[in-house]
Amino acid sequence: MLDVNAVRADFPILTRQINGQPLVYLDNGASAQKPQVVIDAITTAYSHEYANVHRGLHTLSNLATEKYESVRGTIARFLGVADDNQIVLNSGTTEGINMIAYGWAMPRFETGDEVILSVMEHHANIVPWHFLRERQGAVLKWVDVDATGALDPQAVIDAITPRTKLIAITQMSNVLGTKVDVKTICDAARARGVAVLVDGSQAAVHMPVDVDDLGCDFYAITGHKLYGPSGSGAIFVRQDRMAEMRPFMGGGDMIREVTRDAVIYNDPPMKFEAGTPGIVQTIGLGVALEYMMGLGMGKIAAHEDSLRDYAAQRLAGLNWLHLQGTTPDKGAIFSFTLDGAGHPHDISTILDKKGVAVRAGHHCAGPLMEHLGVTATCRASFAAYNTTDEVDALIDGLELCHDLFA
Ligand code: PLP
Repeated sequence: MLDVNAVRADFPILTRQINGQPLVYLDNGASAQKPQVVIDAITTAYSHEYANVHRGLHTLSNLATEKYESVRGTIARFLGVADDNQIVLNSGTTEGINMIAYGWAMPRFETGDEVILSVMEHHANIVPWHFLRERQGAVLKWVDVDATGALDPQAVIDAITPRTKLIAITQMSNVLGTKVDVKTICDAARARGVAVLVDGSQAAVHMPVDVDDLGCDFYAITGHKLYGPSGSGAIFVRQDRMAEMRPFMGGGDMIREVTRDAVIYNDPPMKFEAGTPGIVQTIGLGVALEYMMGLGMGKIAAHEDSLRDYAAQRLAGLNWLHLQGTTPDKGAIFSFTLDGAGHPHDISTILDKKGVAVRAGHHCAGPLMEHLGVTATCRASFAAYNTTDEVDALIDGLELCHDLFA
């Protein structure tokens, strides 16, 4: 079992007060707080071990390079990827998915070729495919969720046609928490020669992930949700897809030789990592992933599942609260509106007065908001350091909102 008090002690920000109340941080879906080990790693890197990576032949550059490059292996281990060279380091999921859109999809999509998306996708896994639609005549095909927010993998498989080149799908919705059975989708897609990109931005934070077992072609993660620094992340690209891909950005580091007339690229994955990277951010991400693996992904998932069950039961007791996404197969992410209450922004402002941090808005999920028939929701999203007492603080705050608006 996860020792949640010990976990909380690792996160210095959790001791602070907001508006005179203890902080109850339930905005983890947007970004997670950082444990002391990550903060220390950043300080140490800048205080004692900083230089640019790869190019130097001096002690500090070698040290920084060694630390930076070792993170590739940490990410591979975290994701269950056997070969480190299938991990491309980047600034986060947005960059990762754009790299696939520009580097892999654009050269192979012709007018009428299709991308299948679920209606739950984050804009980071929508807008790059709109580029393909606008510029190359790609067709975006949408698969809806049911009334509980569940996604039937068979509906995704049934949407495949001979024109389908890619399925781009989240493994966990950042709005509803819905988990998606991407393995079943990957099995069927592979049999039909269709590539699958999995947006793991949320799933990889909350449950153990084994990318080699999933059998996807691309798997994107973003460091700041994984208790690491913002501006860090990675994307798994399967070896054969990497060979098919052209570089997205050109510059230093991704080349072996440049002359006036020609360029010889570096070997993958560095071929896809142009320019000075987020050196310290990536080192911090490595420490964050070691921290998570130290806690145990199974233990984190079990703890968050119990928070999910407790929160679901308490929220269900509020008959003036409309919860979006009631499927039991979900992470501890809850989106809701209050009957008769003001805009979700008002609710989040009132909750903040009680020290409770939630997010309000469209959560970068326009098509899902349209599907749900709302313009915005409030979202409470939990992490390894949250407690059932904090669920109670959320409920108390919501009851106050209800009383104020009644
Ligand atoms: N995909 C999902 C499901 C997300 O929740 C997010 C972040 O909110 C992203 C993609 C984009 O991640 P980033 O902004 O870190 O690139």
